[in-house]
Amino acid sequence: MNKLNLKGMKRQELVERLAGIGKERYRADQIIRWLYLQRVRNIDEMSNLSRLCRKHLQDFSYIGQIELVKEELSQDGTRKFLFRLEDEHTIETVLIAEKSRLTLCISTQVGCRMGCRFCLTGRSGFERQLSAAEIVDQVIQVAEIVAPESQGRGAISNIVMMGMGEPLDNFTEVVKALEILMYDDGLQFSNRRLTLSTCGLAPEIIELGKLTHVSLAISLNAADDTLRSELMPVNRRYNLDELLAACRTYPATNQRRITFEYILFAGLNDSLEDAGRLVELVGNLPVKINLIPFNEHPELSFKRPDHQRIVDFVNFLQQHKLMVMTRRSKGADISAACGQLRAAEAAVEAAQEPAIS
Ligand code: SF4
Repeated sequence: MNKLNLKGMKRQELVERLAGIGKERYRADQIIRWLYLQRVRNIDEMSNLSRLCRKHLQDFSYIGQIELVKEELSQDGTRKFLFRLEDEHTIETVLIAEKSRLTLCISTQVGCRMGCRFCLTGRSGFERQLSAAEIVDQVIQVAEIVAPESQGRGAISNIVMMGMGEPLDNFTEVVKALEILMYDDGLQFSNRRLTLSTCGLAPEIIELGKLTHVSLAISLNAADDTLRSELMPVNRRYNLDELLAACRTYPATNQRRITFEYILFAGLNDSLEDAGRLVELVGNLPVKINLIPFNEHPELSFKRPDHQRIVDFVNFLQQHKLMVMTRRSKGADISAACGQLRAAEAAVEAAQEPAIS
């Protein structure tokens, strides 16, 4: 029998498993505290469970661990971690330090099948889905690395699902991981501190809105279907009309706006006509626009617009009453960037802050 990784089990699953071996419901709560507050690595460390109870647990489960392979530190304080999974695949997790926040950008897949043209992860193809345990464990391991003496999530204040992979392409495990991240006797993240960024899987956006109220970010990057389909193949499946219709169903208000990320590429999507199309597309929705001037990379032919072009674009959106933010990318010197990693800092700002420009 394949044993289950306890870190990926929801409270109710634990309760049912424990009931099967005659154990009380509160034992599940104790296990959750050991896993996510105490961050234990071994079932035998759960000292308030009887030896027999621990033995029963060990019969069907274990505590899995992703393993740190490498860490890089950027000049701006951004830290990138490379973790090895049990099957030897590796994933990246990026910790972004800001004035009052420590944001962890986590991966949800090994690789990605969405194929966005500006993204190095997309170019490398898809390997496999991450389990909920592997998604959650990125948080536990980084909390342990950053502050081994701390409990729970330690100093990590926010999570963005914006690393390798398209979160909504791994829907079941991602929703499960979100639920586990929110346990109030565990890692204690609230909806407002969790942001999921998607390239635009419309049906899953609708489903997500029925199940959670985490902050939603859409990687938009173009306000017309022709260009967006060229940049992001997902747009051929769900065009802008379908994407916007899905966004309208998502629980958002003026206080909790959906973030639209828009990477500015020189000569492609950075004209005032493009800005006008953007206003027309999202102008009547409670949204924020994160403008992210493209950070050039030797393997990608896209160029960054010059400063004046960016300023003109921002001014146009603001004149048309859109809430706009522009952000520098973090960790560029350690390649913390794939198409979406670069936007991590901006997304969490947008998810939390009131109107700014
Ligand atoms: S930008 Fe995101 S969705 Fe697109 S290919 Fe990269 S990881 Fe996948």
